[in-house]
Amino acid sequence: MSHTSSQPRKERPDTRGPVERLARYGVPREILDRLALYLREADDRELYQINPRHIAARLGVDTHTVLGVMAYAVQEGLFDLNWEVHCPHCGGQARTFFTLRDGRGAEVCPFCQNGFDVHLDHEIHVVWERTSARVSA
Ligand SMILES: [Zn+2]
Repeated sequence: MSHTSSQPRKERPDTRGPVERLARYGVPREILDRLALYLREADDRELYQINPRHIAARLGVDTHTVLGVMAYAVQEGLFDLNWEVHCPHCGGQARTFFTLRDGRGAEVCPFCQNGFDVHLDHEIHVVWERTSARVSA
């Protein structure tokens, strides 16, 4: 058989280091291992827009915990944090911005042309993107 059978680990070396650094923030080992596994196994499309519920399910933790872990992951350059405004009329993604400071109190949907007030807990969704820049281990 192949000589590769003795090496079942096929880690992407570019995520291991940053994931390991999250231990400094007190992120439990179990969650680090799941995050590392997730980053290895998820395809690029899955890592393009990650919502809190999705990654919470993948890591087996609640969304509150995941927000904390992901805040550290953003700090370590593993993910970029984006905020999206969704139209309450048609569900379209009316706007994406990168800090809450860029957010507005009201938007006009580019899809259905309805105006709406933006509420932090309803129309604004937080998503993460795997950083496109290669991070060194
Ligand atoms: Zn709309």
